[in-house]
Amino acid sequence: MVQLDEKLESILAEVIKRNQGEPEFHQAVREVLESLGRVVAKRPDFADDALIERICEPERQIIFRVPWIDDKNQVRINRAFRVQFNSALGPYKGGIRFHPSVNVGIIKFLGFEQTFKNALTGMPIGGGKGGSDFDPKGKSDREIMRFCQSFMTELHRHIGEYTDVPAGDIGVGGREIGYMFGQYKRLTNRYEAGVLTGKALFYGGSRARTEATGYGNTYFVQSMLATKGTSFDGKKVVVSGSGNVAIYTLEKVRSFGGTVVAMSDSSGYIVDENGIDQELIQEIKEVRRARISEYLRIKGEGKGVYFVKAGDGTIWDVACDVAMPSATQNELTGKDARALVKNGVIAVGEGANMPSTPDAIRIFQEAGVMFAPGKAANAGGVATSALEMQQNASRDSWSFAQTEARLAAIMGSIHDNCAATAEEYGAPGDYVLGANIAGFVRVAEAMRALGVI
Ligand code: NDP
Repeated sequence: MVQLDEKLESILAEVIKRNQGEPEFHQAVREVLESLGRVVAKRPDFADDALIERICEPERQIIFRVPWIDDKNQVRINRAFRVQFNSALGPYKGGIRFHPSVNVGIIKFLGFEQTFKNALTGMPIGGGKGGSDFDPKGKSDREIMRFCQSFMTELHRHIGEYTDVPAGDIGVGGREIGYMFGQYKRLTNRYEAGVLTGKALFYGGSRARTEATGYGNTYFVQSMLATKGTSFDGKKVVVSGSGNVAIYTLEKVRSFGGTVVAMSDSSGYIVDENGIDQELIQEIKEVRRARISEYLRIKGEGKGVYFVKAGDGTIWDVACDVAMPSATQNELTGKDARALVKNGVIAVGEGANMPSTPDAIRIFQEAGVMFAPGKAANAGGVATSALEMQQNASRDSWSFAQTEARLAAIMGSIHDNCAATAEEYGAPGDYVLGANIAGFVRVAEAMRALGVI
C-alpha cells in the first residue's frame, strides 16, 4: 500500500467515515488518492477549495423501491440505485447493473471510477452508475420485462438526454435496454433516443456498441504490447467471464492472431487448448442463457477441453501470456497474480471494473508485468456510447467500419495519454498512475471553471 501524505490521508479517513460499510468504494477512492500525491506536489492549487473532497462526494444518490409481479402472481420487491456522481464534463453517463450483490457502495465505486474513465475518453460526459439487487438468473422473459418497466417507472424522472444517460452493465444487455426504453417512451411521450445507450440498431443504437468494450480493451493491450515491440500474434490469452465484454474480447484477440484458451462464469471455467469456440459460447450464453459447463457437454471430454468447478481452482491457474479479467470486481487476487506471474504472464488488461485487488496490482507492477487498469482499458464501451449519443443527436447512423475506426482512435489516444502522463509524473510505464492523474486533471479543471458547485 502506498503511504498517503497527511492531507490525502485525512480525505480518505473522512470518505471512510461518511461511507461506512462500503469497502469497494473505499478501495476505489484510495487507489486514486495514491496517485494524487504527485499531482498535489506539482500543482498544490488542485487541493484548494476542497476540490478533491468534492470529487469524492457524489452529486446525488437516489435509492428506490422496485415492486414487480412474478409469473406466480406474487409481488416481489427489489432495491435500486442511481448514483449521479459528477456532471462537470457533461450529463451523467454510466451503466445499470442487475446482480444480487448490488448495494449502494458498489454503485458508488462504479460511479466514481466512471467519472475518471469518461474524462479519459476526452468526450463531453460526466460519470454515474445505477443498478438493482434484482437477480435476472432463472427469470422468464416476461418477468424481466415487468421488472425493467417498474424500474424505469421510478428512474425516468431522474434521467434525460441532457441530464443522465444510462446504459448496460452486468445483467443488463440489449433486451433490458429495449424494455427500459419502451417504458421511458411511454411515460414521457417522447422518442428521446439519446436517453439510453446500448440500444438495438433499429431504434437508434450504434453499430459496434455491443463489441466496443471488449474490442477497446484489446486495442489498448495491443498498444501496450507494441511499446515492448510485441503483439497479440501467437499469444495465449485467458479471458474471465463469458458475457458481453468477454465475448467481444475473444473475437478481437482472435482477429489479432491470439488464442483465447479459457473463459468462465460464476459456476467455474472451461479450458479449450485449441482456442475457445466463439460461436458455441454465444449459443450457450446469448441464446440459451445457460451455464458454461455446457461447453464441455457439447464438445465432449478430451481433445484439450475440460471444465473446472468454481471452488476447485480459479481461471488464473491457467498459464497464459496475457490475462484479461472481464467478469467482476476483485475477481483476481494477490494469490492469482502470483500464479499468473509464475506462469509467465507479460500483460494484463482489465475489461471489468476493478477486477484486480490492490495486492494483485502491486504484484504485477513489481514483477514488471504491463498492467492496464479498467478505467482506461475498458473505456471503449462508454466512448462508443458517446458516439451513439452523437448519432442520435444528428439523427445519423454510421457504418460499422467508421464507428470502429473512431473507437480504435479513441483507445489509441487514451493509451498514449496515460503513458505520457505517467512519464510526465515520473513513473514511466505505470498506467494506473497515468490513468488516475489524466482523468483527475480533466475533471478537476472543469470543476474549477464551474465554481464551487
Ligand atoms: P455480463 O452480464 O454480460 O457478463 C458478466 C460475466 O461475468 C458473466 O459471465 C458472469 O457470470 C460473470 N460474473 C459476474 N459476476 C460474477 C461473480 N461475482 N463471480 C464470477 N463471475 C461473475 O456483463 P458485462 O460483460 O457487461 O460486464 C463485465 C464487466 O465489465 C463488469 O465489471 C462491468 O462493470 C464491466 N464493464 C462493462 C461494460 C459494458 O459495456 N458492458 C463497459 C465497461 C466495463 P454469471 O452469468 O455466472 O454471473
